[in-house]
Amino acid sequence: MPQFPPLQAGFHALGTDFFSTIQPTPLSDAHLAAWNPALAAELGLPEELANSDATLDLLAGNVAPISPPAITTVYSGHQFGVWAGQLGDGRAILLGELYDNEMNSHEIQLKGAGRTPYSRRGDGRAVLRSSIREYLCSEAMHGLGIPTTRALALVTSSEEVYREDVETAAVVTRVAPSFLRFGHFEHFFYAGDHAQLQQLADYAIQRYFPASLDAATPYQALLDTVIARTAELIAAWQAVGFCHGVMNSDNMSLLGLTIDYGPYGFLDGFDANHICNHSDHEGRYSYANQPEIGLFNLQCLAQALLPLLDRDAAIATLNGYQARFKAAHLARFREKLGLTTHEPEDKNLLNTLFSLMQTSRTDWTIFWRRLCDFDSRPEAVNESLRDLFLDRPAFDAWAADYRLRLRHEASQDSERQARMRRINPKYILRNHLAEQAIRNASAGDFSQIETLRRLLARPYDEQPEFETYAGLPPDWANDLSVSCSS
Ligand code: AMP
Ligand code: MG
Repeated sequence: MPQFPPLQAGFHALGTDFFSTIQPTPLSDAHLAAWNPALAAELGLPEELANSDATLDLLAGNVAPISPPAITTVYSGHQFGVWAGQLGDGRAILLGELYDNEMNSHEIQLKGAGRTPYSRRGDGRAVLRSSIREYLCSEAMHGLGIPTTRALALVTSSEEVYREDVETAAVVTRVAPSFLRFGHFEHFFYAGDHAQLQQLADYAIQRYFPASLDAATPYQALLDTVIARTAELIAAWQAVGFCHGVMNSDNMSLLGLTIDYGPYGFLDGFDANHICNHSDHEGRYSYANQPEIGLFNLQCLAQALLPLLDRDAAIATLNGYQARFKAAHLARFREKLGLTTHEPEDKNLLNTLFSLMQTSRTDWTIFWRRLCDFDSRPEAVNESLRDLFLDRPAFDAWAADYRLRLRHEASQDSERQARMRRINPKYILRNHLAEQAIRNASAGDFSQIETLRRLLARPYDEQPEFETYAGLPPDWANDLSVSCSS
């Protein structure tokens, strides 16, 4: 019987101030509902593992790993702007590390495998609905080329869990080089455990930021790198219209990965103030606020690292975040527009476009994809784009400016169009697509999960058999809402 390859201790080396050992809680009636062959191949896992009982037992939490033991890590964080104290892996269990054929290490984590010392009042479980959403979106983000944790497998069960309704439990196998969060550092800073804080920073640098060791001030270099990666990450989110939904500091990855998929959403009709999380009454985590919240979280991280930093240098790099973000953001949007040169008027061109889209609630993804077909000849009307706007003359005026801008850099339509199709996705995981997979899965048919995973692994390619998946959300999707409940 094929066995999952042996896992290695990694985080374990830090010692028990940083984690608790734990046994996953067995899951009755477990079923391997999804297996990600693309990630399995990247990890160097043999194909037969998908059909092995040993794999199911491991990923359901039905066997207790002995060496290394499974662990859950402690972290704290700021939730909705407020210090929340100790949180920790309340339902995530780290099994260990897997080395791929290139000797890159990957942490393997079970999300929803039962209670841990950090579960507080929670049951340590995750519901099927949110597990499917996490499985699909993390793979969709990877397909889009955006740094993210990954998903290897989804185990389902008939075991009941209680949220607003009775639902069933599922376990997602998550994979990332590291699941370190800003909140891990905040934990030791606020506890006054500065020796542990330094130990954790040293571990992070040695394992994941080795280039920092060459810098005169490695901890400052670590902070600089995290700031740069966070700015790049959020710029990438804005470009595809991804709203995270719960950007608490405990949901921010030190590595700059998208992590903890909960009430996330992609923009449909453009609204800068879109709030994807039904529980976010103030709109703290709205689309437009994400860049600023990134800075807030980086300030939390810098605060926590302060015992290791020169205060003035830390403040100086934090002050550089806005400029870094703006540069990354503008670079992304120039690419989306198909521009290869920089002109001062580009910002205006974009801002005018955003305001037109806001008024018309133009569908974000469809607009950018249709812009890939833009015909820059003076007589061209670009009807299918024009139809996306209520104020057609205003769109025509914008299109005229855009045409001039393209002319200015001697843009060739067919070359630019091909380039833009590699930047502006055709397929994104709209809520209604995930919902359809969830409804099917609840009725026992898991096939849509793999269909969507395959589709979203190639979001920039035309896939004519899936044309309807690139369309506007159907009317029934208007009633969908996602909240923190998961
Ligand atoms: P989240 O809002 O999902 O980022 O979770 C915030 C904190 O609550 C983390 O410490 C989670 O591990 C914990 N948590 C969320 N849901 C549960 C649950 N069902 N059982 C135990 N802990 C949970
Ligand atoms: Mg979380």
